[in-house]
Amino acid sequence: MVKRCSYFILLLLVKQTAFSQSINKIINAKEVERIEKTLSADDMRGRRAFSPEIDKAADFIAAEFKKAGLEPGNGSSFLQEFAMFHNKPVSVSGTMNGKTLDEKSVAVLSAKEALSVNQSSGFKQIVVKAHDTLPTILMKLRREGGNYLLMVDTVHRALFERIKRGSLFTPKGDIVMVLLPEEAGEYSIQYKQTVDSRPLKNVIGVLPGKSKKEEYVIFSGHYDHLGVGKANAAGDSIFNGANDDAAGTTAVIMLANYFAKQRKNERTLVFVAFTAEESGGFGSQYFSQNFNPDQVMAMFNIEMIGTDSKWGTNSAFITGYEKTDMGKILEKNLEGTDFKFYPDPYPDQQLFYRSDNATLARLGVPAHTISTSKMDSEKFYHTQEDEIETLDMNNMAAIIRAIAISSTSIVAGKDSPTRVAAESLRR
Ligand SMILES: [Zn+2]
Repeated sequence: MVKRCSYFILLLLVKQTAFSQSINKIINAKEVERIEKTLSADDMRGRRAFSPEIDKAADFIAAEFKKAGLEPGNGSSFLQEFAMFHNKPVSVSGTMNGKTLDEKSVAVLSAKEALSVNQSSGFKQIVVKAHDTLPTILMKLRREGGNYLLMVDTVHRALFERIKRGSLFTPKGDIVMVLLPEEAGEYSIQYKQTVDSRPLKNVIGVLPGKSKKEEYVIFSGHYDHLGVGKANAAGDSIFNGANDDAAGTTAVIMLANYFAKQRKNERTLVFVAFTAEESGGFGSQYFSQNFNPDQVMAMFNIEMIGTDSKWGTNSAFITGYEKTDMGKILEKNLEGTDFKFYPDPYPDQQLFYRSDNATLARLGVPAHTISTSKMDSEKFYHTQEDEIETLDMNNMAAIIRAIAISSTSIVAGKDSPTRVAAESLRR
C-alpha cells in the first residue's frame, strides 16, 4: 500500500510540476508587465470613457485578443460599439382611449428626434401590471429589439420617472411607455426630443466551446479609468489606473491567451474588457442587455489584483461569496496549490454591487468579482499614484494562474455554480 501510494504521489508531483511549468510559460510576470505597462502608460491618458485616448486602449486589447486566436465577439469585430443617449423631451401630446394624455405620463426610449405613434403603427402592446418587474421587462425588450407600447401601472411611478430621466443605450427599436393602468385601444402620441449621443466600446473575444457551445463562461475586467485631473504635489495629473483596472484587463488578456493555447474548453469562453465602469457601469450594462443571462454559467470579473491582499501574497477574495457556491468550486479546483481564495472581508463596502459583475448577478448569473484590493487602506486607490511601479508583477501572475486553475471544472462543463437569487439582491 505504502509503496503504491508513494508511487501515486510521485506521479502526481511529476504531473503537477509539468503542468505548472506549462502554465508558467504562458502566465508569467514578464508577460504581465508587458501588458500592464502598455495599458497604464501615460500616453493612454488614464483611459477615461468618452475620451479619444480610451480608443487606443480598446485597439490594443482587440489586437491582443486577435493575436491570442480568439474569435471576434461582435460579428467580424472585437469591438462592441454603442452609444449613450442623454435625450431631453421637447414636447409630448396625444390621446388615449378618448382622453387627452397627461404629458407627464409619457416616456419614450428612442434614438429618434420625433416619433408619432398610433394603434396602426405596429407597436406591440404590453400591459405592465402592479406585480410585474418593470426593469426586467424593459431589459428583455431591449435585448430582443422591436417597437413596443408599454401600459404601466401607476405603482411603478417612481421607477418610471427614473427611467424617463435616465440615460439610454443605443436602442434596437422604439419603446413608448404610458403610465396608465389600462389597456390601450385607440391612441395617438406625438413626441419630440433633443438627442445627444456619445459613443462607447466594449472589447469582446470568444473561444467557442468544444461540446457545450451554448453555455458561456465570462472572464471580464474594465479597461476604463478616470482620465486626467488635477496635478498632485509631484505635478502628475494622469490617473493611470494601473491597478484599477488595467490589472484586471491584463488578467483577461492573459487568460484568453492561456485558454486559447489549451483549446480544451467544453464551454464557450467569453473575454470582455468593459468600458465606462467608472462612469456608472455602462459597458457591462450594455453587454448584459445583449446577452441571454440564462446561458451564462459563471462570470469571473477581475478588479484590482495588482497589490497583495490583506492576507499577503498568493491570496485573493471573492465578492458576494455566500450568494452562490462558485467560491467553493474554485477552492476545490485550487486544492494542492499554495493559493487561497477568501470571502470578501469588506462586506460594508458593498463591493459585490460596485463592479461589473452586478448587472449579470441581478439577472441570476453566478457573477463574482475577484480582487486583492485592501479597500480599507489601499493607498493609491483613485489617485495619480496608481502606477505600475506600485504593483507586484509576480503576485499578479500567481493570481491570474490561480484564476485559470480555479475555473478548470467550470470551463470543462463539469461544474455549474448555483444561481444568484436575484430577488434577494439590493436594488
Ligand atoms: Zn475598478
